[in-house]
Amino acid sequence: MQGRHPSAQLVAAESAGYLIDCGEGTQYVLRDLKLGISKIRAICISHLHGDHYYGLFGLLDTMALTGRKAPLYLIAPENLRGILLEIGRSTQTPPSFPVHFIGTSLADTGLNVYTDELISIETFPLDHGVHCTGFLFRAHRPARSMRKEKLFAGFPYAAIRMLKEGKDVYDDGGRLLYRVSEYTIEPAPARTYAYCSDTVYSPSLTGYLKGVNLLYHEATFGSELEAKAHARGHSTAAQAALTAAEAKAERLLIGHFSSRYSDISPLLEEARQVFPETYYAEEGVTFQV
Ligand SMILES: [Zn+2]
Ligand SMILES: [Zn+2]
Repeated sequence: MQGRHPSAQLVAAESAGYLIDCGEGTQYVLRDLKLGISKIRAICISHLHGDHYYGLFGLLDTMALTGRKAPLYLIAPENLRGILLEIGRSTQTPPSFPVHFIGTSLADTGLNVYTDELISIETFPLDHGVHCTGFLFRAHRPARSMRKEKLFAGFPYAAIRMLKEGKDVYDDGGRLLYRVSEYTIEPAPARTYAYCSDTVYSPSLTGYLKGVNLLYHEATFGSELEAKAHARGHSTAAQAALTAAEAKAERLLIGHFSSRYSDISPLLEEARQVFPETYYAEEGVTFQV
């Protein structure tokens, strides 16, 4: 659509950033929105259609020019590895920072490809005619917190540590001293965000997306062009909404609209008829997971 950028989303967790897809111009949008490029720890590329990764080369170059030293994880189809090596050879400028390349697989189980102290990332296969994967971000569950009213002066620190890890504490004789359920508060469940890049509607997707808090799913066309959507490896807004409903997602974000739609409100309306909690992924707008 006019005025829209190619695909790129930034997932932020505390001070860290994780970029999903990197369409042309992504680095300028990140800069304009003051979303620190240096904070990006990993870049996930769903597939090698230009609108999803042509911005990567410029972004990597900027990272090097600004003296980045921190390692970068690049999670992408294996073919990208060779493209990057070739660019490196041609320009004869090795990156100033280590790039850990993780090739995505189309294995039909969710695969954990990255974990740090804040989040983990899983991939799952999409059906788009070329090697294409979705990404599921799982924030780590916060630690249990202590029930303050149960603590007293001199409460043993070792016991607090065990309780926060969810372990009951016993004395040397095997007698129960402190029970987890009594002394701690159960943390909120881990929040999840799933990104379904270009794909046809596929009921098998719901297996990976069960109960996801926020789901992004492409909605290139409206239902009037369902046959065309399928032929081109894309989904309609109603199909995106159906996936969200089947997965029992909390909220749905739709995007990747065909440039034929100058007004996307009919697409939003179509999706909301199936799944009321639908919003559209608007440029520069942040959604809380
Ligand atoms: Zn594509
Ligand atoms: Zn695309």
